Amino acid sequence: MAETDTTLRSFVEIPPDSDFGIHNLPFGVFRPRALARPRVGVAIGGQVLDLSVLVERGLFRGPEMRDTWVFHEPSLNAFLSMGRPAWREARQRIAELLSADEPALRDDAGLRDAALLPAASVQLLLPARIGDYTDFYSSREHATNLGTMFRGPANALQPNWLHLPVGYHGRSSSIVVSGTDIRRPSGQFRPDGADLPAYGPSRMMDFELEVGFLVGPGSELGVPVPLDRAAEHIFGLVLVNDWSARDIQQWEYVPLGPFLGKNFATSISPWVVTLEALEPFRCAGPAQADPAPLPYLSSSGDCAFDISLEVLLQSAAMAEPARVASANYASLYWNMCQQLAHHTVNGCNLRPGDLMASGTISGTGRHERGSLLELAWRGAEPLTLPTGETRSFLADGDTVIMRGRCERDGLRLGFGEVRGTLLPALEPWERVGIGP
Ligand code: MN
Repeated sequence: MAETDTTLRSFVEIPPDSDFGIHNLPFGVFRPRALARPRVGVAIGGQVLDLSVLVERGLFRGPEMRDTWVFHEPSLNAFLSMGRPAWREARQRIAELLSADEPALRDDAGLRDAALLPAASVQLLLPARIGDYTDFYSSREHATNLGTMFRGPANALQPNWLHLPVGYHGRSSSIVVSGTDIRRPSGQFRPDGADLPAYGPSRMMDFELEVGFLVGPGSELGVPVPLDRAAEHIFGLVLVNDWSARDIQQWEYVPLGPFLGKNFATSISPWVVTLEALEPFRCAGPAQADPAPLPYLSSSGDCAFDISLEVLLQSAAMAEPARVASANYASLYWNMCQQLAHHTVNGCNLRPGDLMASGTISGTGRHERGSLLELAWRGAEPLTLPTGETRSFLADGDTVIMRGRCERDGLRLGFGEVRGTLLPALEPWERVGIGP
């Protein structure tokens, strides 16, 4: 991949704490105003650059992107399907147009007014039409914490865990963009000590701190994607909050795994940070020597990225959010290339816009736990918030915010955030069940 030119500067003013400098250029989908048709944009400082306007002005001239209409689509899918040569060409041209040395956009006030919009004035939408959603379980510390809680420390990791990236098929219909309120689900669970299950609002609502990647070009049914080609199918990363109802999950999950405790809502951040932007933060993941993975999962190069993650919680009584956890994406035992190679090793095909999430990311420290279940150790060690309120699980009105950031040698970029507020469960008379 191309070297990052750290001397590059934009004519757009970038606030010092902005996640979206000229070295980031994350892609997303937005409406410039209510009822306008969605289109593709790039975040730059506090603004959104409307790529469909640049296309209409003939500003994309390279062989891949000339006369393209993919930025007029209401999702990134068409752009994702084009692959890395197109992504790289588009990104280079956008960086050029935003740079301080290039007059085409900088000196054209009419064009700037049409193409550069205050981020606060636009509506951000889901970046892709996500056909399939897969959730992995790739943090060794998270799997160990959960296994210890439910089976004891001797059997914390299942026998398969160190040999393959465990995952399950999630639900894409309930994936929502950051800012969407989350309704507390009702369902069936068995209260502690009871013999029989009950039905009602979940009493053990939780978040899961995850990072997911969007698939670029698809793959052919029946043909595995080898590990050393996996990155060709990965466009970029988003933050993921995989909301979970632990009581429903615990009662239902044997023998077929997660179902209604998981599929009621998953929130993702709106801006997709590309692998090109993340290149300076590529690093080694944990050693995988004992046991060594099978050859199809044996990595020749690094496929981990140094991304600092944090979770903040704000109750209805709090004036501002408080940090409750932090972790790093690079701590994942199974990296995203291994996840993708394993996903396709049986011939399962990929499609552009598929989302694959990492699974809850936890580290070794007491505060490096990516779920409330772990932070409060299943209620044994409730969390105390600055207001004095305590939490073993989420309360109605709680807002969960996740952020991600990369920093190295003066180069800094971020993911923005994924946030959601938990609403009370519907009352029985509110359960109409007809949606759009
Ligand atoms: Mn999950």
